[in-house]
Amino acid sequence: MRLPFGIRNWPGMPDDDRSARHAARMAKKKAVIDAAIAQADNEKGLLLVLTGNGKGKSSSAFGMVARALGHGMKVGVAQFIKARTDTGEEAFFSRQPGVEWHVLGEGFTWDTQNLERDIATAQRGWAVARDMLRNPELGLVVLDELTYLLSYGWLDSAAVQADIAARPAMQHVVVTGRSATDALRNAADTVSELLDVKHAYRAGVKAQKGIDL
Ligand code: ATP
Ligand code: MG
Repeated sequence: MRLPFGIRNWPGMPDDDRSARHAARMAKKKAVIDAAIAQADNEKGLLLVLTGNGKGKSSSAFGMVARALGHGMKVGVAQFIKARTDTGEEAFFSRQPGVEWHVLGEGFTWDTQNLERDIATAQRGWAVARDMLRNPELGLVVLDELTYLLSYGWLDSAAVQADIAARPAMQHVVVTGRSATDALRNAADTVSELLDVKHAYRAGVKAQKGIDL
């Protein structure tokens, strides 16, 4: 049935017509998607950066930890800023076989109020992360909140990037944290910037188990 331009269907349109048009549209779409998939056939260890002010950076990284473990990969996680060890992610993942989990922070800089100590903690933490970046058994390494150590200048940015670049060819790395530097964004294969549209905290809701920690 010929339809006036721009009209795909209307209530009461005969069902077989609608399904035929739908099938034709989907076949066209499938051809385009299949061609795009056939183009993207490279494999490599990726560097992903999850940044921005919106919620969802670390939790997205932990989603990838679950995926990787599901495929039988081994995973390393370094949490740089957090000092707390009562988060749901740590309680769950650190007990899973194939996970190496390091809590390397001492809290935010306004908690510690001691620059020399922050720098020393950052450098000690980076030594642990570097070992994971040199371990070919680890298929995924998460460097949670690393961006702050770079933007505050606690770690040497060029040295950190060189360590990341020198990792095993098939190892994936996920870096999270606000204000990722341009150098880090440029080095990454995938960069997502989370937009802070709204957050319950600003309406006075405290951090909720299972959602925020
Ligand atoms: P999540 O771990 O929930 O994915 P995140 O890694 O994107 O969050 P961070 O900056 O690391 O965000 O902050 C961690 C904590 O702060 C979480 O409890 C999170 O809900 C909260 N948070 C994140 N973004 C905001 C925001 N824009 N306003 C207030 N609180 C936030
Ligand atoms: Mg985070």
